[in-house]
Amino acid sequence: MTTTNLRSIAKTYGTPLYVYNAAKIESQYQRLTKAFAPLPEVKFNFAMKALSNSAILKLMRQLGAGLDTVSLQEVQLGLQAGFSPDEIIFTPNGVALDEIIAAMELGVHINIDNLSLLEQFGARYPETPVCIRINPHVMAGGNSNISVGHIDSKFGISIHQMPHVHRIVKNTGMNINGLHMHTGSDILDIGVFLQACDILFDLALEFKDLEFIDLGSGFKVPYKPGDIATDVEDLGVQLGERFERFCTDYGRPLSLAFEPGKFLVSEAGHFVTAVNVVKQTTSTIFAQVNSGFNHLIRPMLYNAYHHIENLSNPNGKSRFYTVVGYICETDTFANNRQIAEIKEGDLLVFRNAGAYCFSMSSNYNSRFRPAEVLWYNNEAHLIRKHETLADLTHTQVEWEPKATMEKSSN
Ligand SMILES: *Cc1c(COP(=O)(O)O)cnc(C)c1O
Repeated sequence: MTTTNLRSIAKTYGTPLYVYNAAKIESQYQRLTKAFAPLPEVKFNFAMKALSNSAILKLMRQLGAGLDTVSLQEVQLGLQAGFSPDEIIFTPNGVALDEIIAAMELGVHINIDNLSLLEQFGARYPETPVCIRINPHVMAGGNSNISVGHIDSKFGISIHQMPHVHRIVKNTGMNINGLHMHTGSDILDIGVFLQACDILFDLALEFKDLEFIDLGSGFKVPYKPGDIATDVEDLGVQLGERFERFCTDYGRPLSLAFEPGKFLVSEAGHFVTAVNVVKQTTSTIFAQVNSGFNHLIRPMLYNAYHHIENLSNPNGKSRFYTVVGYICETDTFANNRQIAEIKEGDLLVFRNAGAYCFSMSSNYNSRFRPAEVLWYNNEAHLIRKHETLADLTHTQVEWEPKATMEKSSN
């Protein structure tokens, strides 16, 4: 997908607009399958919280992926998109037993992440096999918002609580068919990840009915020019050796699962905005676009870097800009960034806009969320319409105050 393609798609569908390149999703998927080819049986469950449009889900399914879900609604959307229950794993955190039961009744794999639920679930449904989420207490992920496997994390059952887990399993007679970990996004050090795998493999030897080990995700992709990314090929080789040894120790082969979100869709996404205003102040030049953190919150929420290019003047002389949105509070996309000279009306594209961008968007400031387009086989397909005023009000219930104000009785 070229700059020219993006410009013409933006012209057809208007801005702000999310555009996803199907070929990039496919090549990332193929890259993972190749990297982990040394492993006998591997399943990739797309973490749909990264990007949940049903067209994307269908594409993932066609590629051979399963689905990793974190809410009952994600389970339902996955089923609607054509995944069979067997292809879906439900990995919620801190939900009530009701939600787990509802998912179980839909037939999907259940992953339980605390002792309280494990005990309640085991007491009621000892015959339903479940997976448990382990917290290996390693610091593998990136910043503290997205690193979820460390000692103070709210996720998973601590490795120090395994005696309690075994007691629950024994008392209820429940069947643990999988062990899971997800140490958080942005793995930079493969060694740390492998260390967490070793911890999980050690624990796994104590569970006799396992069918699979799920290693979660956290595969990092480059955002900035020169960024380092997770070396999945190296990881595939090193993990292959360890997993083979583990299966020998275990006494039979198990299958392995991963839950990539960011790796599959981040780089496939391009967010196109138009510049409303170029404002020169005493200290900086602002480029104000027709969007804000209501559409792309990662810079404000995680201090994330998204590369920005001027689609309308790609070869222009570069200057320093602070790119901001139109939300009525501080709303900065990028500070002091070198971008080819910007004029009002120019189109700016934000790269790496596939993961956690649209899926985290909101209607703050009563703005419409953007449309989404899938670029597939050299053609643009609208996969989500721009919103309208009715979308902002359709869940509200009509209410009118009385014509005359009543004295309030308090
Ligand atoms: C968010 C999440 C993922 C995906 O993480 P990425 O960094 O996007 O690959 C995988 N598994 C679980 C349980 C998650 O919550």
